[in-house]
Amino acid sequence: MSFERLKLPTLPPTRKRFADDPFARSCEATVLHVAEEFVVLDATVFYPESGGQEWDEGEIAGVRVVDVQDQGGRLAYLEHPQVRVPAVKVDTVIVHRLAAAAPFRVGDRVACALDWERRYALMRSHSAGHFLYHALRQVYAEPGEELFLKGCHIDPKGFRFDFAADLAADRLAEAQRLANEWIAQGRDIVMEPDPACYEVFYWRYGDIIIPCGGTHVGSARELAPVTVRRQKKGAGVTRFYGELARSTGA
Ligand SMILES: [Zn+2]
Repeated sequence: MSFERLKLPTLPPTRKRFADDPFARSCEATVLHVAEEFVVLDATVFYPESGGQEWDEGEIAGVRVVDVQDQGGRLAYLEHPQVRVPAVKVDTVIVHRLAAAAPFRVGDRVACALDWERRYALMRSHSAGHFLYHALRQVYAEPGEELFLKGCHIDPKGFRFDFAADLAADRLAEAQRLANEWIAQGRDIVMEPDPACYEVFYWRYGDIIIPCGGTHVGSARELAPVTVRRQKKGAGVTRFYGELARSTGA
């Protein structure tokens, strides 16, 4: 079966433990729905593929989790005094795909445990991505203009951004320098939850504010310098790849 063909009954929104605490590596939860290898719980530490960030892996009741996606939900229109907030999907139902048919039933309590190495790498990539994204916008946008982000992807090795614009290579070194200057400051990264919605945060670093629902590290000291490459993706699209220098992390 595929995620697309999966037909879920009406289920309550999944409690997102990664929003309550991005450093939670495990939780207990009650099984709400099982269909072969697909599982829905009342709460989870597993982040679904969302906002360009790849899904978490790990184990539920000792069975390997290979993919996590979310379904349903509603669009929230939030406002912040200092930053424009895009419409975000909230109250979704998170569906875990196991490597084998689930060995438990609806109503059972199960233990969830993340592959922490993968998640922590995603948190570092995601956080470093924000620094580069902000630097690219600052360096490439003309005054009074905003760069339109067409898509992004965050994996444990790095991140990429596709901007809907033809951006020359000449300002790339400056964007990389700026992102690394911010990272080298080594300050705390503050995640301020929206007062109306616990799933949406304002990622704050000094005067940089980025609305986001992903998972991040708590400080720039957990990161490393980034290197960036640029690739033209045909008319009207420019792609930037970023990678963190190899380091042991925290
Ligand atoms: Zn983020």
